Amino acid sequence: MKLVDEFRDVAVARRLVEDIQQRATRRWVLMEVCGGQTHSLLRNGIDAALADVVELIHGPGCPVCVTPAEDIDLACQLAQQPEVILSSFGDMLRVPGNAGSLLDAKTRGADVRMVYSPLDAVALAQREPQRQIIFFAVGFETTAPTTALAVLQAERLGLKNFSLIVSHVRVLPAMELLMQASDNRVQGFLAAGHVCTVTGFAAYDDFVGEFHVPVAVTGFEPVDLLVGIRDCVMQLESGRVEATNCYGRSVRRSGNAEAQRVIEQAYAISDGPWRGFGIVPRGVLRLRPELQRFDATQRFGVIESRPCLFNECRAPDVLSGRIKPPDCRHFGASCVPETPLGAPMVSSEGACAAYYRYGGHTATAPLAAK
Ligand code: SF4
Repeated sequence: MKLVDEFRDVAVARRLVEDIQQRATRRWVLMEVCGGQTHSLLRNGIDAALADVVELIHGPGCPVCVTPAEDIDLACQLAQQPEVILSSFGDMLRVPGNAGSLLDAKTRGADVRMVYSPLDAVALAQREPQRQIIFFAVGFETTAPTTALAVLQAERLGLKNFSLIVSHVRVLPAMELLMQASDNRVQGFLAAGHVCTVTGFAAYDDFVGEFHVPVAVTGFEPVDLLVGIRDCVMQLESGRVEATNCYGRSVRRSGNAEAQRVIEQAYAISDGPWRGFGIVPRGVLRLRPELQRFDATQRFGVIESRPCLFNECRAPDVLSGRIKPPDCRHFGASCVPETPLGAPMVSSEGACAAYYRYGGHTATAPLAAK
Protein backbone atom coordinates (compact mmCIF):
# COMPACT_ATOMS: atom_id res chain seq x y z
CA MET A 1 0.00 0.00 0.00
CA LYS A 2 3.04 2.28 0.19
CA LEU A 3 2.41 3.68 -3.27
CA VAL A 4 -1.11 4.72 -2.30
CA ASP A 5 -0.43 5.81 1.29
CA GLU A 6 2.07 8.49 0.31
CA PHE A 7 -0.57 10.13 -1.88
CA ARG A 8 -2.98 10.19 1.11
CA ASP A 9 -0.54 11.79 3.53
CA VAL A 10 -2.51 14.50 5.36
CA ALA A 11 0.59 16.51 6.35
CA VAL A 12 1.78 16.65 2.72
CA ALA A 13 -1.73 17.57 1.59
CA ARG A 14 -1.91 20.42 4.15
CA ARG A 15 1.40 21.84 2.94
CA LEU A 16 0.07 21.77 -0.62
CA VAL A 17 -3.08 23.61 0.46
CA GLU A 18 -0.96 26.33 2.10
CA ASP A 19 1.27 26.55 -0.97
CA ILE A 20 -1.76 27.02 -3.26
CA GLN A 21 -3.22 29.65 -0.93
CA GLN A 22 0.04 31.60 -0.99
CA ARG A 23 0.46 31.43 -4.76
CA ALA A 24 -3.09 32.49 -5.70
CA THR A 25 -3.62 36.24 -6.05
CA ARG A 26 -7.31 35.78 -6.89
CA ARG A 27 -9.97 33.08 -6.92
CA TRP A 28 -9.63 30.77 -9.94
CA VAL A 29 -12.34 28.51 -11.38
CA LEU A 30 -11.20 24.96 -12.13
CA MET A 31 -13.23 22.00 -13.38
CA GLU A 32 -12.42 18.45 -12.38
CA VAL A 33 -13.58 16.42 -15.34
CA CYS A 34 -14.19 13.08 -13.65
CA GLY A 35 -16.70 12.04 -11.02
CA GLY A 36 -14.03 9.98 -9.25
CA GLN A 37 -12.09 13.21 -8.74
CA THR A 38 -15.26 14.93 -7.44
CA HIS A 39 -15.82 12.24 -4.82
CA SER A 40 -12.20 12.43 -3.62
CA LEU A 41 -12.22 16.26 -3.50
CA LEU A 42 -15.37 16.29 -1.35
CA ARG A 43 -14.45 13.28 0.78
CA ASN A 44 -11.14 14.88 1.73
CA GLY A 45 -12.51 18.40 2.20
CA ILE A 46 -10.26 19.87 -0.53
CA ASP A 47 -13.07 22.01 -1.98
CA ALA A 48 -13.70 23.58 1.44
CA ALA A 49 -10.00 23.95 2.31
CA LEU A 50 -9.33 25.92 -0.89
CA ALA A 51 -12.66 27.75 -1.12
CA ASP A 52 -11.05 31.22 -0.79
CA VAL A 53 -8.69 30.78 -3.74
CA VAL A 54 -10.19 28.08 -6.00
CA GLU A 55 -13.75 27.33 -7.00
CA LEU A 56 -14.01 23.70 -8.04
CA ILE A 57 -16.86 22.93 -10.39
CA HIS A 58 -17.80 19.47 -11.43
CA GLY A 59 -17.57 18.16 -14.95
CA PRO A 60 -19.29 15.59 -17.12
CA GLY A 61 -17.02 12.63 -16.38
CA CYS A 62 -19.57 10.27 -14.88
CA PRO A 63 -20.16 7.51 -17.44
CA VAL A 64 -23.63 6.41 -16.46
CA CYS A 65 -24.74 10.05 -15.97
CA VAL A 66 -24.13 10.96 -19.62
CA THR A 67 -25.68 7.78 -21.05
CA PRO A 68 -28.78 8.95 -23.00
CA ALA A 69 -32.18 8.00 -21.56
CA GLU A 70 -33.07 6.67 -25.02
CA ASP A 71 -30.28 4.07 -24.76
CA ILE A 72 -31.62 2.97 -21.36
CA ASP A 73 -35.12 2.72 -22.85
CA LEU A 74 -33.72 0.61 -25.69
CA ALA A 75 -31.97 -1.68 -23.19
CA CYS A 76 -35.18 -2.04 -21.13
CA GLN A 77 -37.22 -2.89 -24.22
CA LEU A 78 -34.70 -5.43 -25.49
CA ALA A 79 -34.52 -6.97 -22.01
CA GLN A 80 -38.24 -7.79 -22.27
CA GLN A 81 -37.61 -10.14 -25.22
CA PRO A 82 -37.99 -13.69 -23.88
CA GLU A 83 -34.76 -15.01 -25.42
CA VAL A 84 -32.64 -12.08 -24.16
CA ILE A 85 -30.32 -11.84 -21.15
CA LEU A 86 -29.44 -8.15 -20.75
CA SER A 87 -26.17 -7.53 -18.88
CA SER A 88 -24.33 -4.41 -17.75
CA PHE A 89 -22.40 -2.86 -14.88
CA GLY A 90 -24.19 -2.54 -11.52
CA ASP A 91 -24.59 1.27 -11.57
CA MET A 92 -26.12 1.17 -15.03
CA LEU A 93 -28.93 -1.10 -13.88
CA ARG A 94 -30.26 1.59 -11.50
CA VAL A 95 -30.22 4.64 -13.78
CA PRO A 96 -33.75 5.66 -14.80
CA GLY A 97 -34.72 6.11 -18.44
CA ASN A 98 -38.13 7.38 -19.52
CA ALA A 99 -39.91 4.24 -18.34
CA GLY A 100 -37.82 3.23 -15.36
CA SER A 101 -34.50 1.48 -14.99
CA LEU A 102 -33.19 -1.93 -15.96
CA LEU A 103 -33.79 -3.04 -12.36
CA ASP A 104 -37.45 -2.01 -12.80
CA ALA A 105 -37.52 -4.12 -15.97
CA LYS A 106 -36.07 -7.00 -13.95
CA THR A 107 -38.87 -6.72 -11.37
CA ARG A 108 -41.31 -6.96 -14.31
CA GLY A 109 -39.74 -10.31 -15.28
CA ALA A 110 -36.90 -9.38 -17.62
CA ASP A 111 -33.68 -11.37 -17.31
CA VAL A 112 -31.25 -8.59 -16.34
CA ARG A 113 -27.87 -9.47 -14.87
CA MET A 114 -25.01 -7.47 -13.39
CA VAL A 115 -21.54 -8.32 -14.69
CA TYR A 116 -18.13 -6.93 -13.77
CA SER A 117 -16.73 -7.01 -17.30
CA PRO A 118 -18.01 -7.34 -20.87
CA LEU A 119 -15.83 -10.46 -21.06
CA ASP A 120 -18.15 -11.99 -18.41
CA ALA A 121 -20.99 -11.41 -20.89
CA VAL A 122 -19.03 -13.24 -23.61
CA ALA A 123 -18.51 -16.15 -21.20
CA LEU A 124 -22.26 -16.09 -20.47
CA ALA A 125 -22.99 -16.32 -24.21
CA GLN A 126 -20.77 -19.41 -24.39
CA ARG A 127 -22.55 -21.01 -21.40
CA GLU A 128 -26.06 -20.18 -22.64
CA PRO A 129 -26.05 -20.82 -26.42
CA GLN A 130 -29.86 -20.96 -26.56
CA ARG A 131 -30.18 -17.38 -25.23
CA GLN A 132 -29.27 -14.01 -26.77
CA ILE A 133 -26.79 -12.16 -24.54
CA ILE A 134 -26.71 -8.37 -24.86
CA PHE A 135 -24.09 -6.28 -23.07
CA PHE A 136 -25.02 -2.62 -22.48
CA ALA A 137 -21.61 -0.95 -22.90
CA VAL A 138 -21.15 2.47 -21.29
CA GLY A 139 -18.20 4.59 -20.27
CA PHE A 140 -15.29 6.64 -21.54
CA GLU A 141 -12.04 5.61 -23.17
CA THR A 142 -11.30 3.81 -19.88
CA THR A 143 -13.84 1.03 -20.43
CA ALA A 144 -14.03 1.13 -24.24
CA PRO A 145 -10.97 -1.14 -24.71
CA THR A 146 -12.51 -3.97 -22.66
CA THR A 147 -15.73 -3.81 -24.66
CA ALA A 148 -13.62 -3.81 -27.83
CA LEU A 149 -11.79 -6.93 -26.62
CA ALA A 150 -15.15 -8.58 -25.86
CA VAL A 151 -16.60 -8.03 -29.32
CA LEU A 152 -13.34 -9.08 -31.00
CA GLN A 153 -13.32 -12.24 -28.87
CA ALA A 154 -16.97 -12.94 -29.75
CA GLU A 155 -15.98 -12.62 -33.41
CA ARG A 156 -13.05 -15.02 -32.98
CA LEU A 157 -15.30 -17.52 -31.21
CA GLY A 158 -17.94 -17.19 -33.93
CA LEU A 159 -20.63 -16.38 -31.36
CA LYS A 160 -24.04 -15.73 -32.90
CA ASN A 161 -25.80 -15.00 -29.59
CA PHE A 162 -23.74 -12.05 -28.35
CA SER A 163 -24.40 -8.39 -29.16
CA LEU A 164 -23.83 -4.92 -27.75
CA ILE A 165 -25.66 -1.69 -27.10
CA VAL A 166 -22.67 0.64 -27.50
CA SER A 167 -22.96 3.88 -25.54
CA HIS A 168 -19.25 4.70 -25.20
CA VAL A 169 -18.29 8.39 -25.17
CA ARG A 170 -15.11 10.46 -25.65
CA VAL A 171 -14.08 13.06 -23.08
CA LEU A 172 -12.19 15.69 -25.08
CA PRO A 173 -15.08 16.70 -27.42
CA ALA A 174 -17.29 17.40 -24.39
CA MET A 175 -14.57 19.62 -22.89
CA GLU A 176 -14.45 21.51 -26.20
CA LEU A 177 -18.22 21.99 -26.09
CA LEU A 178 -18.02 23.33 -22.53
CA MET A 179 -15.36 25.87 -23.54
CA GLN A 180 -17.45 27.02 -26.52
CA ALA A 181 -20.52 27.76 -24.36
CA SER A 182 -21.28 31.48 -24.03
CA ASP A 183 -21.67 31.17 -20.23
CA ASN A 184 -18.49 29.17 -19.68
CA ARG A 185 -16.61 30.07 -16.47
CA VAL A 186 -13.95 27.32 -16.49
CA GLN A 187 -10.38 28.66 -16.44
CA GLY A 188 -8.51 25.38 -16.07
CA PHE A 189 -9.08 21.62 -16.07
CA LEU A 190 -8.07 18.67 -13.95
CA ALA A 191 -8.15 15.95 -16.62
CA ALA A 192 -9.07 12.40 -15.66
CA GLY A 193 -6.01 10.23 -15.08
CA HIS A 194 -7.61 6.90 -15.95
CA VAL A 195 -8.83 8.17 -19.34
CA CYS A 196 -5.36 9.60 -20.06
CA THR A 197 -3.77 6.28 -19.10
CA VAL A 198 -5.43 5.00 -22.29
CA THR A 199 -5.37 8.08 -24.52
CA GLY A 200 -2.22 9.81 -23.28
CA PHE A 201 -2.24 13.57 -22.87
CA ALA A 202 -0.57 14.75 -26.08
CA ALA A 203 -4.08 15.28 -27.50
CA TYR A 204 -4.62 18.12 -25.00
CA ASP A 205 -1.89 20.25 -26.61
CA ASP A 206 -4.24 21.42 -29.37
CA PHE A 207 -7.04 21.98 -26.84
CA VAL A 208 -4.78 24.18 -24.68
CA GLY A 209 -3.61 26.04 -27.79
CA GLU A 210 -7.17 26.71 -28.94
CA PHE A 211 -8.77 27.70 -25.63
CA HIS A 212 -5.76 29.02 -23.66
CA VAL A 213 -6.52 27.11 -20.47
CA PRO A 214 -4.21 24.88 -18.44
CA VAL A 215 -4.93 21.16 -18.31
CA ALA A 216 -3.34 19.10 -15.53
CA VAL A 217 -3.79 15.34 -15.67
CA THR A 218 -4.35 14.04 -12.13
CA GLY A 219 -4.94 10.86 -10.20
CA PHE A 220 -7.59 10.41 -7.55
CA GLU A 221 -5.80 10.60 -4.20
CA PRO A 222 -5.77 13.92 -2.29
CA VAL A 223 -2.09 14.65 -2.98
CA ASP A 224 -2.58 13.83 -6.70
CA LEU A 225 -5.44 16.32 -6.90
CA LEU A 226 -3.69 19.06 -4.94
CA VAL A 227 -0.55 18.78 -7.10
CA GLY A 228 -2.78 19.19 -10.18
CA ILE A 229 -4.63 22.17 -8.66
CA ARG A 230 -1.33 23.82 -7.73
CA ASP A 231 -0.07 23.24 -11.25
CA CYS A 232 -3.14 24.93 -12.76
CA VAL A 233 -2.94 27.85 -10.33
CA MET A 234 0.77 28.38 -11.06
CA GLN A 235 0.07 28.38 -14.79
CA LEU A 236 -2.85 30.78 -14.47
CA GLU A 237 -0.83 33.12 -12.25
CA SER A 238 2.07 33.12 -14.72
CA GLY A 239 -0.14 33.51 -17.80
CA ARG A 240 1.59 30.60 -19.58
CA VAL A 241 -0.60 27.53 -20.12
CA GLU A 242 0.12 23.96 -21.20
CA ALA A 243 -1.00 20.36 -20.72
CA THR A 244 0.93 18.76 -17.87
CA ASN A 245 1.05 15.29 -16.41
CA CYS A 246 0.64 15.19 -12.60
CA TYR A 247 -0.10 11.44 -12.61
CA GLY A 248 3.22 10.13 -13.82
CA ARG A 249 2.88 6.76 -12.09
CA SER A 250 0.09 5.81 -14.51
CA VAL A 251 -0.01 8.18 -17.50
CA ARG A 252 2.40 8.44 -20.42
CA ARG A 253 2.35 11.19 -23.02
CA SER A 254 1.27 8.85 -25.82
CA GLY A 255 -0.92 6.61 -23.64
CA ASN A 256 -1.43 2.87 -23.96
CA ALA A 257 -0.76 1.83 -27.56
CA GLU A 258 -2.36 -1.61 -27.24
CA ALA A 259 -5.60 -0.18 -25.76
CA GLN A 260 -5.70 2.45 -28.53
CA ARG A 261 -5.18 -0.29 -31.13
CA VAL A 262 -8.19 -2.36 -29.98
CA ILE A 263 -10.35 0.78 -29.75
CA GLU A 264 -9.48 1.62 -33.34
CA GLN A 265 -10.06 -1.96 -34.45
CA ALA A 266 -13.57 -2.09 -32.96
CA TYR A 267 -14.99 1.45 -33.17
CA ALA A 268 -15.43 4.44 -35.42
CA ILE A 269 -15.65 7.97 -34.00
CA SER A 270 -19.05 9.56 -34.59
CA ASP A 271 -21.24 12.54 -33.64
CA GLY A 272 -23.72 11.39 -31.04
CA PRO A 273 -25.86 12.19 -27.99
CA TRP A 274 -24.70 12.72 -24.43
CA ARG A 275 -27.36 13.02 -21.77
CA GLY A 276 -27.57 16.68 -20.88
CA PHE A 277 -25.34 17.83 -23.73
CA GLY A 278 -27.31 16.95 -26.85
CA ILE A 279 -25.31 15.89 -29.88
CA VAL A 280 -21.58 16.12 -29.21
CA PRO A 281 -19.52 16.36 -32.42
CA ARG A 282 -17.10 13.40 -32.53
CA GLY A 283 -18.28 12.62 -29.01
CA VAL A 284 -19.21 8.92 -29.24
CA LEU A 285 -17.81 5.58 -30.37
CA ARG A 286 -19.83 3.24 -32.59
CA LEU A 287 -19.03 -0.27 -33.82
CA ARG A 288 -17.19 -0.35 -37.13
CA PRO A 289 -19.25 -1.45 -40.17
CA GLU A 290 -17.51 -4.86 -40.27
CA LEU A 291 -18.71 -5.54 -36.69
CA GLN A 292 -22.29 -4.30 -37.18
CA ARG A 293 -23.66 -7.83 -36.79
CA PHE A 294 -22.80 -7.49 -33.08
CA ASP A 295 -24.87 -4.30 -32.76
CA ALA A 296 -28.06 -5.15 -30.83
CA THR A 297 -30.03 -2.43 -32.64
CA GLN A 298 -29.21 -4.13 -35.96
CA ARG A 299 -29.90 -7.64 -34.68
CA PHE A 300 -33.24 -6.83 -33.06
CA GLY A 301 -34.33 -3.85 -35.14
CA VAL A 302 -34.28 -0.21 -34.04
CA ILE A 303 -36.80 0.57 -31.33
CA GLU A 304 -38.31 4.04 -31.38
CA SER A 305 -36.81 6.38 -28.81
CA ARG A 306 -38.47 9.34 -27.11
CA PRO A 307 -37.10 12.45 -25.47
CA CYS A 308 -36.58 12.33 -21.72
CA LEU A 309 -39.86 12.83 -19.86
CA PHE A 310 -38.55 13.70 -16.41
CA ASN A 311 -37.19 17.14 -17.06
CA GLU A 312 -37.07 18.41 -13.49
CA CYS A 313 -33.79 16.56 -12.93
CA ARG A 314 -31.11 19.21 -13.43
CA ALA A 315 -28.44 16.72 -14.44
CA PRO A 316 -27.55 18.72 -17.59
CA ASP A 317 -26.74 21.77 -15.43
CA VAL A 318 -24.87 19.66 -12.88
CA LEU A 319 -22.84 17.84 -15.55
CA SER A 320 -21.83 21.06 -17.25
CA GLY A 321 -20.90 22.79 -13.97
CA ARG A 322 -23.66 25.44 -14.20
CA ILE A 323 -25.08 24.52 -10.80
CA LYS A 324 -23.98 22.56 -7.76
CA PRO A 325 -26.19 19.61 -6.75
CA PRO A 326 -27.73 21.34 -3.68
CA ASP A 327 -29.09 24.00 -6.08
CA CYS A 328 -31.51 21.36 -7.42
CA ARG A 329 -34.77 21.52 -5.46
CA HIS A 330 -35.04 17.72 -5.42
CA PHE A 331 -31.60 17.21 -3.86
CA GLY A 332 -31.83 15.38 -0.54
CA ALA A 333 -35.63 15.62 -0.57
CA SER A 334 -37.37 13.64 -3.30
CA CYS A 335 -33.99 12.61 -4.75
CA VAL A 336 -31.73 10.51 -2.52
CA PRO A 337 -29.48 7.53 -3.36
CA GLU A 338 -32.17 5.01 -2.34
CA THR A 339 -34.77 6.64 -4.62
CA PRO A 340 -32.79 8.59 -7.22
CA LEU A 341 -34.56 10.80 -9.75
CA GLY A 342 -31.52 11.18 -11.96
CA ALA A 343 -28.27 9.47 -12.87
CA PRO A 344 -25.95 11.79 -10.88
CA MET A 345 -27.61 10.53 -7.68
CA VAL A 346 -27.32 6.88 -8.75
CA SER A 347 -23.76 6.54 -9.83
CA SER A 348 -20.79 5.96 -7.56
CA GLU A 349 -19.18 8.71 -9.67
CA GLY A 350 -22.17 11.06 -9.72
CA ALA A 351 -21.77 14.60 -8.34
CA CYS A 352 -25.17 14.54 -6.60
CA ALA A 353 -24.27 11.30 -4.81
CA ALA A 354 -20.93 12.86 -3.80
CA TYR A 355 -22.64 15.93 -2.28
CA TYR A 356 -25.25 13.78 -0.56
CA ARG A 357 -22.55 11.59 0.95
CA TYR A 358 -19.89 14.13 1.85
CA GLY A 359 -21.35 17.62 1.36
CA GLY A 360 -22.58 18.03 4.93
CA HIS A 361 -19.48 16.57 6.52
CA THR A 362 -16.69 18.97 5.61
CA ALA A 363 -15.86 19.49 9.31
CA THR A 364 -14.78 15.85 9.64
CA ALA A 365 -12.98 15.60 6.28
CA PRO A 366 -9.22 14.94 6.64
CA LEU A 367 -8.15 18.38 5.38
CA ALA A 368 -10.75 20.24 7.41
CA ALA A 369 -10.14 18.41 10.72
CA LYS A 370 -7.21 19.85 12.77
S1 SF4 B 1 -30.44 15.97 -7.10
FE1 SF4 B 1 -31.47 14.35 -8.28
S2 SF4 B 1 -33.01 15.41 -9.53
FE2 SF4 B 1 -31.51 16.95 -8.84
S3 SF4 B 1 -29.95 17.05 -10.45
FE3 SF4 B 1 -29.21 15.55 -8.96
S4 SF4 B 1 -29.95 13.57 -9.74
FE4 SF4 B 1 -31.16 15.17 -10.80
